[in-house]
Amino acid sequence: MAPHSVKPNLRDFQRTKFYRFEEAVIQRHPLNQLLSLDQCRVLAHKYNATVLVKDGRGRRHAGASYEDNLITLPRWSRQTSIVLHEVAHTLVDSQYYPHHGAEFVGVLIGLLSRELVGTVESNTGAVLAARLKIDISWIVSDAFSQRNKTLR
Ligand SMILES: [Zn+2]
Repeated sequence: MAPHSVKPNLRDFQRTKFYRFEEAVIQRHPLNQLLSLDQCRVLAHKYNATVLVKDGRGRRHAGASYEDNLITLPRWSRQTSIVLHEVAHTLVDSQYYPHHGAEFVGVLIGLLSRELVGTVESNTGAVLAARLKIDISWIVSDAFSQRNKTLR
């Protein structure tokens, strides 16, 4: 990625639409499984080896912080697609890219297909059919190695 010389527009322009898409399409996929907190940790560490996975029991929302490299998971959120959604937030720097923008969607589609929750083709097709923006160059981006490089 080129260095950023202009301040990006960080408005979270497709948040509501993307949540609806996830509920209607991604969360209904048969390989979107319910997980224990330990299974969530294992899954999260596959794609971000240093992420801190916090027990968000009692919280209403699942959450993630790129800066603090952590995700928080209430009980209801412990399922493949939501864990990957939160992990994707820890791979896309929210200082430079909109929270649920095209880059984020690209990274998440990449993670979902690695866990066989849809394929890159099927998920990208569904995203485009829902008129959401996706940057396909982020599907196979090095966001993972950026975050995991200290370990190699
Ligand atoms: Zn999100």
